[in-house]
Amino acid sequence: MDVKDVVIVGSGPAAYSCAIYLKKHRPVLVEGGYIGNNGPGGQLTTTTLVDNYPGFPDGISGPDLVDLMAKHAAATTVSETVQSLRRISTEDSAEESARRPLFEVRTEEGTLYARAVVIASGSAAKRLYVPGTGDDEFWMRGISACAVCDGWAYRDKVCCVIGGGDSAMEETKYLAGIARLVYLVHRRDTFRARADMLEKVERLANVKIIRSHVLVRAKGRDRLESLLLKSTKNEADEMVVEVDGLFFGIGHTPNTSFLEGVELDNDGYVVTNAAMETSLDGVFACGDVQDKKYRQANTAAGTGCIAALSVAAYLNKPE
Ligand code: NAP
Repeated sequence: MDVKDVVIVGSGPAAYSCAIYLKKHRPVLVEGGYIGNNGPGGQLTTTTLVDNYPGFPDGISGPDLVDLMAKHAAATTVSETVQSLRRISTEDSAEESARRPLFEVRTEEGTLYARAVVIASGSAAKRLYVPGTGDDEFWMRGISACAVCDGWAYRDKVCCVIGGGDSAMEETKYLAGIARLVYLVHRRDTFRARADMLEKVERLANVKIIRSHVLVRAKGRDRLESLLLKSTKNEADEMVVEVDGLFFGIGHTPNTSFLEGVELDNDGYVVTNAAMETSLDGVFACGDVQDKKYRQANTAAGTGCIAALSVAAYLNKPE
């Protein structure tokens, strides 16, 4: 059995930072993102301009930053998505597992074995499920959760973004550069987005902000054509807006469906301690899959570094 020192699951800043620090252990990095989701590189690839990553005073595009990180890490990479991760104890592994755990990481086409695993699988954009937004309705026929990926199709058209956080501001700003008109619909009066990001959006001439409204229904024939919105202040107050595109900017869900036996919190995030250790000895986690508060490229890279140092200490520990 070919047993690697460490398999890293993911391909965002947490994964690459971890791989850079673990170079000596020749990590194998399973990129992920091939099923649903944002594709390899994770959410940073859907960000237009990263203006707060140290070392890039003029900003850098999310995809360019991920590319640089991947080049820097130069890790052996598997271009597949992990299907399952579990601790094993087979005859083949009996000797190793007597001393320390051994892990089986299954991808679509193969199986990897490792002495340690780092979960850096990130999170995925959330969707709203109301009549009309389902997979067999207007999802991907006018409805998306990624303006950077799908916004190009809306030149001079009318779009709507739902949400009140930084993601919604980014989506709105990006779409305003393409579309004729962008509605930004938020369920409350006040926004949780960074004040400067909100101000930039408020200054855009082709953005119309609709506060205190929620989506009730998406309508159309072959493609999305209109949205029915309802006031959160007065149930009877409904409005219809005609749109060509709808983008969800309402937050994220951690990518953990492949995990077995790793403790998750009530919101589904992997529970770690300050050393990025999970509840399973030999399994570590870093980045957005374990961070529901900060979720920055910087913090992901930082926790990736901590995870790597903990993995190195774990692998070097006398048995
Ligand atoms: P978020 O901060 O959790 O915001 C989600 C927004 O969606 C909130 O305004 C929320 O409304 C709304 N929402 C949630 N569920 C909804 C529903 N069912 N119906 C209608 N609206 C709903 O998520 P995020 O914007 O993705 O940001 C996540 C983290 O990433 C944050 O820490 C943010 O700072 C960071 N981020 C940073 C940047 C950047 O610095 N360039 C860019 C993107 C994200 P309520 O406010 O009413 O709860």
